[in-house]
Amino acid sequence: MTKLSARMVALGTAKSEIREAFAFAQARAAEVGPENVDDFSIGNPSVPAPASVGELVHRLVDTVDPVQLHGYTPAQGDPSARQALAEDLNRRYGTDYDGDCFYLTAGAAGALCCALSALSCPGDQFITFSPYFPEYKVFVESAGAELVAVPADITDFQIDFAAFQAAITPQTKGVIINSPNNPTGVVYSQATVRRLAQVLEEKSAQYGHAIWLLSDEPYREIVYSDQPLPWVPSYYTNTLVCYSYSKSLSLPGQRIGYVLVPRQVEDFPLVYAAICGAGRALGYVCAPSLFQLVVAGCAGQTADMEIYRKNRDLFLDSLRAMGYTCAQPDGAFYLFPRTPEPDAHAFCERAKKYDLVLVPGDSFGCPGHVRISYCVPTEQIQRALPKFKKLAEEYGLG
Ligand code: PLP
Repeated sequence: MTKLSARMVALGTAKSEIREAFAFAQARAAEVGPENVDDFSIGNPSVPAPASVGELVHRLVDTVDPVQLHGYTPAQGDPSARQALAEDLNRRYGTDYDGDCFYLTAGAAGALCCALSALSCPGDQFITFSPYFPEYKVFVESAGAELVAVPADITDFQIDFAAFQAAITPQTKGVIINSPNNPTGVVYSQATVRRLAQVLEEKSAQYGHAIWLLSDEPYREIVYSDQPLPWVPSYYTNTLVCYSYSKSLSLPGQRIGYVLVPRQVEDFPLVYAAICGAGRALGYVCAPSLFQLVVAGCAGQTADMEIYRKNRDLFLDSLRAMGYTCAQPDGAFYLFPRTPEPDAHAFCERAKKYDLVLVPGDSFGCPGHVRISYCVPTEQIQRALPKFKKLAEEYGLG
């Protein structure tokens, strides 16, 4: 028998509760009709990319020499595309980035993998806050480091600073944050980001080495409150931003995003070089060339997010009125209510009886909750609310 990497076999055969829930919904839809199944399992944007994306794709295909358009770009990405992205951020955040601070990647996943590989040395640990995007564990371990999950404060899913400070050790190489958050939808307040920066500065000084902040921001543009989202590098110098156009422009299959390395970070030239080295070692070669130009041409635009806001308002208000407890989700397109019984799997199984498909919070390192992904047509939510009501009644909520 062929000897294979045990780790890769394990990763390739491991069950994903999100995928399983999605597969269940698909199977049930085939059996009883899609109109009878309410699937809230998957975070695939439901709004189309803006028309300007399609128009630009056509224009580029019609006007640019195809050898150039479909060819390799420099590993970091097309220089003019990187410059356009820098100028867009500078306009919005009053920063002074230039194209050479950007390394274009295959989405936020590619960005995180490059950043983690660039930073990781044997024995290093990265802290994140549960609930967290389950792929962090895969990405951190693939980079040869260890993921340490610190439970967030489940009343509002801001950082529990006492638990966080207790978890930082001399081995802590970095911290991964994700705001707006998958799976809670929670946005970190300015106070949270400021305090996080203060703790990291103190601990970096105490241990005599930088503790890096990786800000994973695929949902940066999906925010519902009037409060501006804190621009993390303005609060903490040694920040790397991992960004993606998967959600903001509804382009998840085109695999395009970036790592931003602000020039102010410690050892900027080496850090940027290490990210280029990581991209090389991981075999990315360069980010998809056509979509480098598309996102540069559409910098600052977003898909129409209004439906997400409408869905969030309808879902959140209705669930709370039924007696469910849910932290305030001011961004992304997820709700993360508490389950009325401690076992979220048992709750999800009960929900399945109504063909209501949800994902247990255990998948995100936070039992006792479910993730509800509301990037779906509003009619699906309207149709599903009576099912949530019946479930609430089964548990005597309200
Ligand atoms: N980070 C978070 C928190 C996510 O939710 C996702 C995707 O859902 C990603 C990273 C990866 O996104 P992509 O690689 O499509 O940009």
